[in-house]
Amino acid sequence: MLSWISSILNATYPFQLPQLDYDYKDLEPDIDQETMEIHHLKHHQAYINNLNNGLEKNPEFQTKTLGWLVKNYTQLPEPLSIIVKNHGGGHLNHSLFWKMLSPTHDAPSPKLEEHLNKSFGSVENFVELFNKASLSVFGSGWAWLCIDDQQTLSIMATPNQENPLTKNLTPVLGLDVWEHAYYLKYQNQRTAYIDAFWNIINWEKVEELILFHRK
Ligand code: MN
Repeated sequence: MLSWISSILNATYPFQLPQLDYDYKDLEPDIDQETMEIHHLKHHQAYINNLNNGLEKNPEFQTKTLGWLVKNYTQLPEPLSIIVKNHGGGHLNHSLFWKMLSPTHDAPSPKLEEHLNKSFGSVENFVELFNKASLSVFGSGWAWLCIDDQQTLSIMATPNQENPLTKNLTPVLGLDVWEHAYYLKYQNQRTAYIDAFWNIINWEKVEELILFHRK
């Protein structure tokens, strides 16, 4: 398995805040430094703390990986089940999200474009559908590009911190559309935040996940 995704999915209790591959200021002007600092150091850390507190009281699940916990949270006893759904999902989703961002302003490779064309007709159509999913989230949630076991790409939105893994889909790109991800800079203008997101996607990571899953 790709080492960076493996270190996210196969991590076990006690969970730790991952380091970013760039500085908080590096995504400016698309995402401002203060939002990045609060989002990573406060919001993401809070998901981790709550997840660790839940597992501290349930030692029999401390050896389970993050990927397993999020995928199988309905099998867990209450209240651990709801803790993993919200905070395990929060930890996993944000760990993926940071990896999907990059200050380098790359474009999808011809190979990735071809894959998007095959699934969505054109890259423009893919972007339009993803934007529509991002805007469809009421309250907090995520928009995702996913791949299934038949290597088909699809777009979905999930509420709160739910992850496509619970629906047997593997996320290869995700956008956090909770207001804490953009409110300081964009206030109520979610559309402007979504537009800015397309400037800072780490397409190399997206492609790695798609190609990895196709093997
Ligand atoms: Mn968030």
